[in-house]
Amino acid sequence: MPVTRDLPHVALSVRAHDREGARRTDEDWLTQRWADDSTRVLVLAGTRLRPIDGALHWVRPHQSPVGTRVLLGHVDGVTRFAVIAKPDDVEGQLGEWLGLRALFPRLIAGDEALVSEVPWLFHAIGLAEWHWATRFCPRCGGDLESTHAGHQLQCTVCGKPQFPRSDPAVIMAVTTGEPGSDDERILLGRHASWPEGRFSTLAGFCEPGETLEDAVRREVLEETGVLVGEVSYFGNQPWPLPASLMLGFTARALSDEIEVDGTEVAEARWFSRADLRGETEHGIAVPTGISISSSLMESWLGEPLIVGW
Ligand SMILES: [Zn+2]
Repeated sequence: MPVTRDLPHVALSVRAHDREGARRTDEDWLTQRWADDSTRVLVLAGTRLRPIDGALHWVRPHQSPVGTRVLLGHVDGVTRFAVIAKPDDVEGQLGEWLGLRALFPRLIAGDEALVSEVPWLFHAIGLAEWHWATRFCPRCGGDLESTHAGHQLQCTVCGKPQFPRSDPAVIMAVTTGEPGSDDERILLGRHASWPEGRFSTLAGFCEPGETLEDAVRREVLEETGVLVGEVSYFGNQPWPLPASLMLGFTARALSDEIEVDGTEVAEARWFSRADLRGETEHGIAVPTGISISSSLMESWLGEPLIVGW
């Protein structure tokens, strides 16, 4: 039975803010909130931000540079915005700016100061990535104007609206053997770009017209040659790099012979629970912290993972 409470990735939804979706076109309210001294602003230079002492750096509205204003929402009565400034306008003034990928080691490690602000961080970065990548109307090539407090882009020529996108990706814990027994194994792979000994659950993007369950079966077969039967939903996690929504599944293998594709996955193996606990010669590194990959493995293992990277 999967463990569904107290898993690290769940922290993302527990701490979610009220996004105030109905207020995004209320210009009077937006102006009033922006003028309020309690309001805080996260400044981005393009898609990069500048943490200070390991935490997100929030400024008052009057300290914010000019840029695209995005309403994030509120928690405990404090309204928060993001401002997406042009990199040339701020980078020189404000020192070191980091992309989300540079913060990953601390997010993966579960750094509390940063993890507690992940819903703000992912909301702001996800929209910044979308604004950065969506420069012109895909229908007529016209210029776009930010509306709905940064959550829509409207073509100034033909009027076609653009909406922020999330790309569905599946991530799965594939198992074989009698469930719960010492013989049960989990399938983990090493990405072609990773060093020896680093393993994680398999993952891949859902294709148009494909169900999520079929995407799980296709990706596992393509990457490792393993046939998958039953697929069950586990949970999800936004991952704005630049726009993924990771949809987690557990899956049962129908075959156990492995033949990796050699391009995306360089190596894949079946691991027992003893292997994952580091009790065997298969000393490995697996993701820990807030990643749903870690949650999938911990749920199967029945205890926290300690062999992190
Ligand atoms: Zn247009």
